[in-house]
Amino acid sequence: MQHDTSGRRLMKRSDLAVLAVLVIACLGALLWMRSRQSVQASAENYAVLTVGEEVAAVWPLADHHADEVLDLSEYGFPGKAQFHDGAVRVIEVDCPDKVCESMGYVKDEFQSVVCLPNRTAIQIYTPEEAANMGLLD
Ligand SMILES: [Zn+2]
Repeated sequence: MQHDTSGRRLMKRSDLAVLAVLVIACLGALLWMRSRQSVQASAENYAVLTVGEEVAAVWPLADHHADEVLDLSEYGFPGKAQFHDGAVRVIEVDCPDKVCESMGYVKDEFQSVVCLPNRTAIQIYTPEEAANMGLLD
């Protein structure tokens, strides 16, 4: 009987040890994920304007938190880009379907504004992608 009791106690102690290790591991993972998230949040994406086949402009969204309107006619696109809070959309576009204007603001990876009639697109790339494409040189 005595042996059984001590055996059970030992089991409980080792269970506690396993639990403690799990809790520490979870906390560590949580902190690691948090630090990763804050790093990603501080690295803002790039908006890339392409007209036809050419890259016409590259805008770091981190530099475009103030409200700002750019005339894009100098790039061969009959419209304007409006920046707001690190996002961009097109407005006042001379375009038959106006689909591009209805797409609204973009700022996250894989988002884009496309104007087929004018063969123009604004695509969002992460800093890594922009660097890999040679857009930041
Ligand atoms: Zn359009």
